[in-house]
Amino acid sequence: MTNLYGCDVEALRGFLARYDLPAFHASQIYAWLYARRRFDPADWSDLPASLRERLQCDAVFDPGKIVARTTATDGTIKYGISPDGGGTIEAVYMHYDDRVTLCVSSQVGCALDCDFCLTGKMGFVRHLSPGEILGQVAQIQNDRGLGERPFNLVFMGMGEPLHNYDAVLAAFRVLVDPRGFGLSRKRITVSTSGLVPAIEQLAAEPRRPRLAVSLNATTDETRERIMPINRKYPLARLLEACREYTTTTGERITFEYVLLDGVNVADDDLERLAEMTRSLAVKVNLIPFNPVPDRLPYRPPSRQRVLQIRDELLRRDVPASIRWSRGTEARAACGQLATEATR
Ligand code: SF4
Repeated sequence: MTNLYGCDVEALRGFLARYDLPAFHASQIYAWLYARRRFDPADWSDLPASLRERLQCDAVFDPGKIVARTTATDGTIKYGISPDGGGTIEAVYMHYDDRVTLCVSSQVGCALDCDFCLTGKMGFVRHLSPGEILGQVAQIQNDRGLGERPFNLVFMGMGEPLHNYDAVLAAFRVLVDPRGFGLSRKRITVSTSGLVPAIEQLAAEPRRPRLAVSLNATTDETRERIMPINRKYPLARLLEACREYTTTTGERITFEYVLLDGVNVADDDLERLAEMTRSLAVKVNLIPFNPVPDRLPYRPPSRQRVLQIRDELLRRDVPASIRWSRGTEARAACGQLATEATR
């Protein structure tokens, strides 16, 4: 049976019409799936009993199942989720004093093979469907009892979201739909390793999430070493695409910069980073690397150096902040998501 979780109103209408069922019920079903997050037609009290019975027989509404929870001492929870299409993906719940942030996956594994990233070491397994992306959000919302509470959502889990462009944008449209999840688009950020054509495509969308670019190096030589995608889209081309993006959309980009000791944190790097950002509407997010002993040959610079880097950038008028790791011991931190089976 087809899994209808992830369908928009149009697709639900099409399904109902195909089965000779009244299509105007599509928007009620849509509200149950995404605004109320109840997945069993038996609970859909505003639908006629006969329709609920038909739906139970003829369709599946499966957002995937939570199969594991690992809680770190800072309250960060890493979820293992088994999506309808198979495999296991990971998503993370982070709770701060004033906000909640969910980090979701867009693919099982990743094709881009960044050298500092555990997901990259898994290789690419498959793209997730819109329903498998939305299912992570819905299941964590329900599990944490978030109710109607707004939260931030980042596509920084497993996978390169812009490599799975259509599914991520389809999920985004349901997330920002007031009849769906009802999130403000400004709360949603997609992070890319620098897929230039997809950045250009995103700039042309009528509605789009915020964009973060995982920069991580200031020379092609270093970037190619740690991010093979740079061979296809070198820094000059990426920066040009970023410039176009900020001009076309009027929106600021975030440059993510994972700090790798001995690789990208020399004074020359800071000089070049400041130069790159000078005429761009960007802010820089510094991310001290989360070490994965025995698996990845990198370590973060000292805490003192991290603070110094931030201060140096601020002194050069670059808006810079530090994203200290959360959930490190649950392996829920950036670059640490890879399913146990693959490890
Ligand atoms: S950092 Fe992102 S793009 Fe690079 S391998 Fe990891 S998941 Fe893929």
